[in-house]
Amino acid sequence: MGATDSTDLAQRVEILLPRVANLFHVEPRTIKLSIEPDWRWQASTRQAWPPEIPLLRLSAQSDDDVIAHEIAHCLVPSYWLLAAEGLAVWAGVTIGASTKHILFEGRTVDEVVLRHQTILPDLSMLAQERVGAGENLSPAIFPELKGRIAHATAGSFLGFISSHFPDVPRLISRRETREVDLPTLLFKTTGCDFLKLVDEWKTSIKIQSGSRGVSRVLGQ
Ligand SMILES: [Zn+2]
Repeated sequence: MGATDSTDLAQRVEILLPRVANLFHVEPRTIKLSIEPDWRWQASTRQAWPPEIPLLRLSAQSDDDVIAHEIAHCLVPSYWLLAAEGLAVWAGVTIGASTKHILFEGRTVDEVVLRHQTILPDLSMLAQERVGAGENLSPAIFPELKGRIAHATAGSFLGFISSHFPDVPRLISRRETREVDLPTLLFKTTGCDFLKLVDEWKTSIKIQSGSRGVSRVLGQ
């Protein structure tokens, strides 16, 4: 539901903040909110690690799934796009009970991933995309199908990991993880090799074993 004014939006951010924090097993934190009068569908967050305060920019019309997505960027910042977008998409879809905010019909990201299982991006490649230097997961590519599928894949994968290892969102979003690559971070926090996590995730949502990454096709 769209907000009617900025007071309403600020209240909804306040209500959603503890819900998203709960999902990630982290403490809510102070967020700076900027309501953008000229925006309609855009939303953005400037991530920050304590003691700096993250900046959340929203239009007054933002729906709860979009707000939850951006709150996730504030609560669990990451240097890696697969982690940042995966956790944020998972939060948005969980809070909104719909995949609307990543522009797909459906209720869960797993459904979207299954529907597109023949054209999924390779997770090992997505894991290398840094915030500010992304390809498939960069905001600029999001309007394209391959960008939206990459976001759905990230959300499904991070949702799977977070459901099995509730400490992961907190541990992989610490400031001091800057120099550690994402597969190593996930290995340190789950004890599982990255490719094993990918295999288990695929099995859990019943992706056919023959469906491997086909980013070459998507990249054309
Ligand atoms: Zn995002």
